[in-house]
Amino acid sequence: MVVNPNSPERPYSLERTRNIGIAAHIDAGKTTLTERILFYTGMIHKIGEVHDGAATTDWMEQERERGITITSAAVTTEWWQRTEEGSVKLFPEEKQRINIIDTPGHVDFTAEVERSLRVLDGAIVVFDAVAGVQPQTETVWRQATKYNVPRLVFVNKMDRVGADFGNVVAEVREKLGANAASILIPIGSEDALIGQIDVVNQKAVYFSDDDTFGSTFTVKELEGDLADIGKAAYDELLNAVADIDDAVGEKFLNEEEISHEELKQGIRRATIANKLVPVAGGSAFKNKGVQYLLDAVIDYLPSPLDIPSAIGMDPENEELEIEIPTTDHAKFAALAFKLWADKYVGKLVFFRVYSGVIRKGDTVYNPRTRKSERVGRLIRIQADEHKDIDACFAGDIAAMVGLKNATTGDTLASEGYDVVLEPPTFPEPVISMA
Ligand code: GDP
Repeated sequence: MVVNPNSPERPYSLERTRNIGIAAHIDAGKTTLTERILFYTGMIHKIGEVHDGAATTDWMEQERERGITITSAAVTTEWWQRTEEGSVKLFPEEKQRINIIDTPGHVDFTAEVERSLRVLDGAIVVFDAVAGVQPQTETVWRQATKYNVPRLVFVNKMDRVGADFGNVVAEVREKLGANAASILIPIGSEDALIGQIDVVNQKAVYFSDDDTFGSTFTVKELEGDLADIGKAAYDELLNAVADIDDAVGEKFLNEEEISHEELKQGIRRATIANKLVPVAGGSAFKNKGVQYLLDAVIDYLPSPLDIPSAIGMDPENEELEIEIPTTDHAKFAALAFKLWADKYVGKLVFFRVYSGVIRKGDTVYNPRTRKSERVGRLIRIQADEHKDIDACFAGDIAAMVGLKNATTGDTLASEGYDVVLEPPTFPEPVISMA
């Protein structure tokens, strides 16, 4: 019998949760992209809550003044995927949750980078379309490879003079040894960057002048040169997936028809298994580019259920492994990954829950200090605010207020649950990343 890992009270299912990091060489556009994601999703959030689009216009201004979220250890956004026609569903049945975990880019903070890599399930690696693959990103890339973190590549700044999408894809293959395949190809570049080819769906998506949220996309059939580029990219993508994914591979060999959805699932499996790196090209300056990039995060990067359960240790006996199942219906176990001194609330301990549920007012046990402490408040940094929450569920990320003794790397668990978390391991890549 398959037991549903979700408790009925949780607002987002595990399947619809993504914990991602954004990694980049300095200046490639990580801050801008994060800002745009928060702005874009923040608008949705605001529109969803107050039903007033006008209230969102000065949001970015305030955000800049306060500067809380961008620099935060983890920030949560809500996400609605596009419809087939390309418009955004405003109030669908179910939303997605994306937690963006800050991954420090500096090489000299390797330990910190490694710790943040342990709590995320996937990453967007941003490259500058002019500068290409730079040494600092190679280091982060190698670390992500070491931890088998599934990745998407975003080739940013396609609007800059000298931007060259094909060149960056080639560098990702040659310098990073990645099995890269384009999923979103920029249409035009520099001043003439006008849209993207959605390779899987064989559609052209045009950025409109009206770049505000709620304006629908212009989505067209591929024609002329674009049709040739799109077809070639589709064949390349299909070949790459057929080579590494059994389900798609078998149909491909038998010359059976492979639907867009089947290809998408194949890309998803191959990406999660670290055998494929989907590449998207565009610009963080274009909101519509953000829409499709985040859709790719949902489509191709893993949910907490797609990665193996974390393994804990008995602190008294390191030989004794304890499986930490990814489900709400188990004892609580979380990893504290960042401390944050917040101007308004004091010391925040950011944590990722691997199993169980934590509620405001609960007591957590810290096997390192052998002490229990009460969780005064639970907070989520969402869009532009600190949001008090009552509970945090398996696979999710939030911050605790009120813990005096916890530090980064600590396990926080249910009372009497003597376990120390080890980083979760991802499946071994089969394709060598030589
Ligand atoms: P970070 O160091 O990776 O966080 O990079 P930033 O987000 O601070 O961006 C560095 C510079 O590049 C800033 O001046 C941004 O305005 C600019 N930038 C970011 N994204 C784009 C883009 O898509 N196109 C262009 N032309 N400039 C960009």
